[in-house]
Amino acid sequence: MSAFPHPERYQQMQYRRSGRSGLKLPAISLGLWHNFGDSTRVDNSRELLRHAFDRGITHFDLANNYGPPPGSAESNFGRILREDFQGLRDELVISTKAGYTMWDGPYGDWGSRKYLISSLDQSLKRMGLEYVDIFYHHRPDPETPLEETMRALDQVVRQGKALYAAISNYPADKAAEAIAILRDLGTPCLIHQPRYSMFERTPEQGLLDVLGDNGVGCIAFSPLAGGVLTDRYLQGIPQDSRIASGSKFLNENQLTQEKMEKVRQLQAIAQQRGQKLAQMALSWVLRDARVTSVLIGASKTAQIDDAVEMLSQPELSQDEIDAIHNILV
Ligand code: NDP
Repeated sequence: MSAFPHPERYQQMQYRRSGRSGLKLPAISLGLWHNFGDSTRVDNSRELLRHAFDRGITHFDLANNYGPPPGSAESNFGRILREDFQGLRDELVISTKAGYTMWDGPYGDWGSRKYLISSLDQSLKRMGLEYVDIFYHHRPDPETPLEETMRALDQVVRQGKALYAAISNYPADKAAEAIAILRDLGTPCLIHQPRYSMFERTPEQGLLDVLGDNGVGCIAFSPLAGGVLTDRYLQGIPQDSRIASGSKFLNENQLTQEKMEKVRQLQAIAQQRGQKLAQMALSWVLRDARVTSVLIGASKTAQIDDAVEMLSQPELSQDEIDAIHNILV
């Protein structure tokens, strides 16, 4: 096995500033939602993390509930950090979140101070860390006052348990409110994590403007629509794919004829450009300078290579962006 980490790991990656903060993130970040729980071989998870880091991916994104079972992605990540990433903590940006159901009862879900603070303590224990770099509120809570949730984020930053505060899945108006509260508290919102891809363009309807105007970064999750915006499902459903694994979040019914026709047309443009559809889909999200990073998932190291190699391919021209738009509408 070659030496780890690779001495040239910083040469291919681009690092983009998150909004007007001091923190730069890799243009490609790796998420641990799938392929890091107890149902996955830890050897594969380890290989993915080492490979990603060797290719300049310094940012790993987690949440309390990633697994399955919930919590196991953090525990497995913690083990791999201890065993393989000794001495490298200061080269990593590690994020986690709380906001979805994590434990039974009224204190293991949504956005109370009670939930957020105990959840982060549990996450730190599972990962064996003293602090995370970014702590997110994972989704807006319609019942808890936004001030309470944002004060909890401010508190963990002041305690040094997180370096930056962030939000995810907030619509534009709620995001603007949260950003203003955090600014008043003296803990600016570092970044927002929305779903954004060719198939999910809601952030273009106001959210990206809010983030751009306020100097808040944007990290786009599921930029490949869970694998649909790749060549993965063009010839059926491969045995080793997310759909074949029985995912709750992606199933065969979502591959409608209409959607797959669009995928085929997009694939044709990608081929004319001499790249893979996955690469074009990532390049498309990164075309907007307000997007700091694309947050991909991967089940194989070759998928990480595809993403990183995209960075040395030509950017999309306005004509190509228009042609893609015409397919998507
Ligand atoms: P993607 O849209 O990037 O989908 C990843 C999947 O696409 C992979 O698991 C793989 O599927 C397939 N794939 C990736 N690269 C290629 C390639 N080059 N060629 C062919 N297929 C490819 O993202 P995810 O949906 O996995 O989400 C990424 C991360 O975003 C999560 O891990 C998490 O960190 C974050 N996230 C955050 C959410 C939030 O609420 N804040 C919600 C959802 C995700 P296969 O397994 O079939 O090989």
